[in-house]
Amino acid sequence: MNTGIYIRVSTEEQAQKGFSLEAQKEKLTWLAHIKDWNIINVYEDKGISGKDLNRPEIIRMINDIKNKVIENVLVFKIDRLTRSTKDLIYLVEIFNKYNCAFNSLTESIDTTSATGRMFIKIIGIFAEFERENLIERVKLGIDRKVSEGYSICSSTPSYGYYKNKGDNILRPLKKEAIIVNLIFDLYLKNYSFLQIAKILDRKKIPTKKNKTWTAKTIQLILTNPNYIGKVRHNINSKKYEEINGKHKGIVSNEKFAKVKEKIYKNKLLHITKKTNNDAFYVNYLKCGFCNNNFYPKRTIINKKTFISYYCKNKKIKKCSQKSISHNRLDKEIKLFLQKKGFYINWDDLSYELKNQFLKLTNIKIVIKTFEKKALPIIKIDSLL
Ligand SMILES: [Zn+2]
Repeated sequence: MNTGIYIRVSTEEQAQKGFSLEAQKEKLTWLAHIKDWNIINVYEDKGISGKDLNRPEIIRMINDIKNKVIENVLVFKIDRLTRSTKDLIYLVEIFNKYNCAFNSLTESIDTTSATGRMFIKIIGIFAEFERENLIERVKLGIDRKVSEGYSICSSTPSYGYYKNKGDNILRPLKKEAIIVNLIFDLYLKNYSFLQIAKILDRKKIPTKKNKTWTAKTIQLILTNPNYIGKVRHNINSKKYEEINGKHKGIVSNEKFAKVKEKIYKNKLLHITKKTNNDAFYVNYLKCGFCNNNFYPKRTIINKKTFISYYCKNKKIKKCSQKSISHNRLDKEIKLFLQKKGFYINWDDLSYELKNQFLKLTNIKIVIKTFEKKALPIIKIDSLL
């Protein structure tokens, strides 16, 4: 089989052992030899990150696939190929369209099977999770950059700002800065998020992405510390912090503080019994005795919320299932993922990401807790 080997290291990784181009090449050549594959080309992207496909050698490889020069791609690890799910899906589609096989030494992937294709999608998601979760960022020294006040987290600058190409400092955009202040003023005049969104739409003011305004976008603007000259770090994580940015604020500190207080007060007013997404495991639990679903219950001890899940039949005393705590489930899922060979920092993921992940991997958790036993029996089923 005519095979192309794709290898890549980023500048930061070049220093690390075992990841050098030579090491990757050696291992892959050895594998190709064992499998009796004919190495036609080696594509080397040196000192280039995997965040997009704007790399000379991967472009050459894609062309070779299209021209049937190679019919098999071999990589050391999928993240060598790409770190973005979108790009991974794009590449897999190319492999499929041109009948090109794909093999990863580390993940033992075979894209010719349906399971392989699902697997590849999930691995791509993991790669992106890891990226979002700063495992990579810490390594790449981005923490340092943010702590110096650069704005590097988001690709699109906040409404009210623009960024010059290759520049990580937010620059105020006067036209939008006026709208930002209008939003803050309207909120202080007791308009709700949704009402403000409707006002802006009626005035035909476009959002940054030329979409209509929503209550959510308004809320995001009103709580964005960029507007008082700060940058956010570790968004959606426990390690969240705000740092003085390199850029200028466009809303006065006083106005921002007033809005913040008002949002907080309004939130207190609107606390309902509605289930928060912090109890997201409820969607994946099944009772091992009666097959019923679970419901979450919150206990507040020393201002900290603890979540436990109960079988719905337990409420009406029809089931003897004991409760299971959210933290316990977190640990179980972490163990499960480790067993499956995914070294993902589960603890650092936000509720949204965890929930999204569980949904994608179709996880089902069956619980059986016997009265006399302290530990429940937990069975996890998933596509993984
Ligand atoms: Zn039950």
